[in-house]
Parts: sequence; C-alpha cells; structure tokens
Amino acid sequence: MRFEGAGEPLSNDGPGIPVELVRTLLGLLRSQLGLDTAWLSSFRDGVQVFEVLDGDALAVDLSSGDRASLADSYCVRVVDGRLPAIIPDTTGNLTTAALPVTGEWGLGAYVGVPVLSPTGMTLGMVCAVSREAKPYLADIDLRLVKQVAELIGTLIESPGTSASTTAAQREAIRKVVSQRDFEIVFQPVHEVASGKVMGVEALARFPHAPFRPDAFLAQSALLGLGLELELAILTRVLSMVSQIPDEIFVAVNISPGAALVAPWARLLADVDPSRIVLELTEHTAVLDYSALDEALEPCRTRGVRIAVDDVGAGFSSFSHVLELTPEFVKIDQSITRNIDVDDARRRLAHAIAELAGQMGATVIAEGVENQGELDAVSAVGITAVQGFYLNRPQPLGHGFEPASVTAEPADLMRAEVDLLGERRFELALAHSPIGMAVVGLDGTFLRTNRALRAMLGYSKWELAELTFQEITHPDDLDADVALLTECLEGRRRSYRMDKRYIAADGRIVWGALTVAIVHAPRDKPRYFVSQIVDVTADRIREADLARQAATDPLTAIANRSAGWGRLEHLEAGGAGYGVLFCDIERFKAFNDHHGHRAGDRLLVEVAHRLRTAVCDDGMVARWGGDEFLVITHSVDDAELARLADLIADDLDNKPVTLGDGSQVPVGLTIGYAAHRPGDGRSIDTVLDQADHAMHEKRQHRNEAPA
Ligand code: C2E
Ligand code: MG
Ligand code: MG
Repeated sequence: MRFEGAGEPLSNDGPGIPVELVRTLLGLLRSQLGLDTAWLSSFRDGVQVFEVLDGDALAVDLSSGDRASLADSYCVRVVDGRLPAIIPDTTGNLTTAALPVTGEWGLGAYVGVPVLSPTGMTLGMVCAVSREAKPYLADIDLRLVKQVAELIGTLIESPGTSASTTAAQREAIRKVVSQRDFEIVFQPVHEVASGKVMGVEALARFPHAPFRPDAFLAQSALLGLGLELELAILTRVLSMVSQIPDEIFVAVNISPGAALVAPWARLLADVDPSRIVLELTEHTAVLDYSALDEALEPCRTRGVRIAVDDVGAGFSSFSHVLELTPEFVKIDQSITRNIDVDDARRRLAHAIAELAGQMGATVIAEGVENQGELDAVSAVGITAVQGFYLNRPQPLGHGFEPASVTAEPADLMRAEVDLLGERRFELALAHSPIGMAVVGLDGTFLRTNRALRAMLGYSKWELAELTFQEITHPDDLDADVALLTECLEGRRRSYRMDKRYIAADGRIVWGALTVAIVHAPRDKPRYFVSQIVDVTADRIREADLARQAATDPLTAIANRSAGWGRLEHLEAGGAGYGVLFCDIERFKAFNDHHGHRAGDRLLVEVAHRLRTAVCDDGMVARWGGDEFLVITHSVDDAELARLADLIADDLDNKPVTLGDGSQVPVGLTIGYAAHRPGDGRSIDTVLDQADHAMHEKRQHRNEAPA
C-alpha cells in the first residue's frame, strides 16, 4: 500500500536522522540475520515514511522518502501485539498471509522492532525482510534487532513538538474518535489444563499515533474525548458478541469513570449479559467504591461479570479486588514475566491465587510468553492464562483455536522444582559467598547474586541488561559457547572451565565456572545455573610460578628447560627452526682473574646483548654455565650467519663495563645449525651440529697465528 511520494523531501517535522550511521547499523543487522533489505521508517500522521534503506531496496521496490499506509502494515501490528516481532515464514502466519502487502512486496521473512524515543514514544520501526522464508530466525535473534532499534532511538531526534504538530495530532485523534476509526481485536483466554478457550478479551486498535491503545486512550482523555471513545468501543464490542461462539465470554476493558456513566440498560438491551465481563484496571484509583458498586449493580444482577485487571502492578494494593469482589482477577504481566526463575514473583502470584480462590474468583495470568512461565503459573495454582505464547490478539474471523500448548501437571512441575531444591537454591543464591547466576538460554542474566556482582563490579540492573557473552573475554567465548551448545543439544548436563570475565571497570577477572543446565519437564532446556569462583589471585600466582620455573634466576632469561620446551614446540609445529650455540670465550680465566661477582655480571650483560640482538624474533636461553642458546624461526644458513656476526660484532665493538668501571673485551664463539621442514633431524642432532660448529670455530681460531 504505497503512496506516491518517492524522492519527496522529508517534511520539516520529521525526525533528524544521521543517515550514514543508521545505514551502517541496518547493514550490520541485515547481514547478521541473513536478510535482503533493512530499513528505518518513521511514523507520521498514520503513514510510515521510509527514511533509510540498506541492501536490496529493489527487491521490495522501495526507496528513501516513500510512504506507505500504516493501517495495512506489519509494523503497526507488531507495535500493538497482533504480530510477533519475528516472522520466519510469512505464509505460516494467518495475519501476514492475508495482508496484501505480503504479496505486493514479496515478503517471505520479516523482523521488526519499534524505535522508541527516550520518553517511550513510538517514533518508527527498524525492519529487515527477505523474499525467501528464513526458518532459522528465532526469538534469540531479537536481541540484536532490539539493540539496533534502541541505539537508533537514541540517535534520532524526536519529531518537533511544535504547536502545529500537536494541533495536527489532536485533530487526528478527534477524527479517529468522531469517525469511529478503530478496530477491535480479540485475545483468547485459555484454561491452563486443557488449552480450551474460555473467553476472549476485546482490545482496541487505532490507525494513528501513538498507536498503543493505552497511550491513545490516555491522549484522548486529555483532549476530553476519553468517555466518548470508550463508549464507542464498548458499543462496537457488544455489537460483535453474536459473532463469537456462545460458550465463551467476551471481556471488555473499561475505566471506572466510563463504567459510572455508561447507559447500561441501553447497551445491554441486545446482548446476553452473562457473556460479558467488564475489566476494570487496578491502575486507576477509585475514589468512591459505593458509587461504582451502585453503577455496576444493575449489570451484575443481569449476569455481567467483573474482572479486576493488572493486579499486582502495585497501584491500589488489591483494594479493587477487596471492594469489588470480582469474578475474575487478572494478574499483571509484570508478575508473570520470568516467574519461572523468580521466587518472589512466584510467591506473590501464589498469594494472589489463594486470596482470589477464597473469594471465589478465577485467576487469569496475563502476558504468558513461554513454556516456563506457563508451567510456573500453573504450579502456583492459576487455572487460566492469556499471552502471546498461547494466542495473539486477532480480528474476528480467524476462529478461536484452543492453545496448542498446555502446562505440565503441577505435581510434575513441583517434582522438577524440588529437584532443583528450589527454596534452598534461593537461599544459596542470596547468601552464597560464591558468585551465582541463573542464565537464560540466550545468555541473559535472569538472576545474579551479590557475590557475583561484587566480583565483577556490575549492579544488579546492569547485569540484567547484559548477556554472559558480552562480559566474556573474546578468547574464551568460543570454548564456553561450544560447551553450552553441547548442554543444549543434550550431550552433557554440565561443564567446568576456567575463563576470563571483563569486569565493569575493564579489569580481567579469572573465574572457575561450573554450569549446569536445568530442564523443564519433557526434557526441554529451561535455563542454566552458573557458579563462579574468583581465581584471579591463583592465576597470577600460577603465572608467577610458571615464570619462575622457566627463568634463569641470574640472567632473568629462559632457562634450559624453557629453551628445550620451545624447541619441542617448534618441532611439533613443523615449520622448522634455527639455533645458535654461543659460548663465552675464556670464561674460566675471566672468573679466575676478576672474581665470581664480575663473572656473574658478565653473564647478565651477555644475556642482555643477545636478547637485544634477537629482539622478538626468537628466544634466548641460558643453556648452562657460560653457554647460551638462541632459537629463531629462521632456517636459512645465510640469515643465521648474519645473526651470529651481528652478535659477535656487537660484543667486539662494545666492551663490557665491570663494577669498578673498567672495561673488558669479551668474545663469543657461535656455531649454528637449522632444522628444515622434512629433513627428519631430531632436536639432539641439530643441537649437536651447532655445538660441533662452535667447537670447530674455536679450534680454528686457536690454531690461527696470533
Ligand atoms: P490490558 O487490558 O491488561 O490488556 C492486555 C495487554 O497485554 C494487551 O495490550 C495485550 O496485547 C497485551 N498482551 C497480551 N499477551 C501478551 C504477552 O504475552 N506479552 C506482552 N508483552 N503483552 C501481551 P494492549 O492491547 O496494547 O493494551 C494495553 C492496555 O490498553 C490494556 O491492558 C488496557 O488497559 C488498554 N486497552 C486496550 N484496549 C482497550 C479498550 O478497548 N478499552 C479500554 N478502556 N482500554 C483498552
Ligand atoms: Mg484488560
Ligand atoms: Mg492487564
């Protein structure tokens, strides 16, 4: 549904965008996800404007500046929950399969995340698409898309809030209200045990900013249009009840203010009231419960039921539940989120379920997004659920299918929980002197304890925003991920490794890590439990000891065993090596003449000269007494000869200064040999040859006429 306007200049009230930077981010996203085209669009006056495109724009026949209707877009449906943010195959989703834009743009796979302003306003969308379906796309990919969208949200300037924009927005909202330009979608509420649909919740959808229904309703209320809009929605929903299967209830949201003034007798005249549930949110304070009770009484006597919405979100501390004695209590999604790994949330949900049970109300957990949450709400005794994991909000006509997923029976769930020693685990987590974390399957830190946070210097909130991948030293990441993958694939249940973490201040912290995978019933991996002991001090000590064991104490260069180790390493590498055997001439006489102190000084000086000559290209080891071995990568005789000359010349030209300031000439006799790849010579043979060459040289010199 494209409008004319390709190439049009962006309107003045559009967002200020650093185009090249955004394009780079989009390119990164596209290539990471293996998709053809990515874009940033902005939402303006019911239209999305394609601001920046990257990749194959021709594939979707779009260019920067193009505009398209939002009402017909995937984007707005992602914003309001009708579509998931990741659609690996558009033919496999009823909504996308039916949207004309799927065929028009040839969309096979889609990923889209809203771009929010720092104040939480939806500015637009970051999307990436391809012609082909991409079955490999999964929720785990969402993290990257969210990060890119978040970053772009901070980069772009919000559209101006000039008086004219606000006036235009007001006008648009007025138009939506007066023309009843909204849609109603329905989200099923399921029985936990059977997956059966017990009812549906009607949710309004608007074709204009701010799109999110709660935000749109709030803005309409500010314009004095709230009541009119709510009553219009209510009328529309009630008119649709006859199209919804008889055995299920229809819940509709209503503010206490609207409930007080709604003309109930007229509204309920043509509908079976026993099918209607009114959802009153706990977010809204009620000043006069008796007035509300009175207003609702005629409805309730005719069979309308009441639900208190968003319980646990903390606003009215259950007063709605206590005052209204509702038939349904809906637990807010902020309680459901991660309830499977959070004891406090589970206890709160359990307490609400007990209270509601005693009052004869049915508890519905909202916002269930995965099997873990479904199992956990079931385990605390909640019998009804609503959430994207079971079904998304959908227009009438799609039919309301039972959920294809059900919760594990609570006793099995408890067995699993006991297996983990849940309560003891919570205590251990809180009080353990060892760092502990509960890590999600995608690597996010779901829970961390104080010890871990102290070890790494991050706050609880900082860690909650990070994945273990982000704070693992890059050199240790592959090994860690490989072991983790073996756990996920069922090839092992736990692993141990020493690895480096990057602390908040950039320090490297060595951790002895033990990871165990925790499965949900039916052997589905659920999360990892990690224990991390800080072994940085041990590592430093070990490194010191290793250094000491490999170092000659007098000259501080490698000792014979370290030299031998290097030769074995080079031999195993197969690329060959060269050695220079160096012997200090007449060292015994020097010692006898100048004393052992001066002898030591000479050895230190020779070691220093050799290291300077060899630089980083090789190793210098003290082979014993007055013998040194230079080990290089070079296997070329001419190069080895050059190095030998360089060393000998340096000593010839610069005498060694002794402690008393006197200068003495020192000579080195050097013999060299090389092991070339494939020549089959052992280390001993090569060393013998170099030693032999050195002795020959010495003999030669001794025989030479003085
Ligand atoms: P609510 O009544 O608590 O509605 C549930 C909200 O949770 C809906 O958001 C629904 O799309 C969303 N939701 C359902 N399952 C999941 C899930 O698994 N994960 C997540 N993240 N969200 C889920 P929606 O439609 O955006 O509505 C937001 C709020 O706006 C509603 O909260 C309700 O308070 C208000 N609202 C929506 N439609 C109407 C309406 O027609 N009239 C009135 N008065 N208020 C409405
Ligand atoms: Mg509701
Ligand atoms: Mg709610």
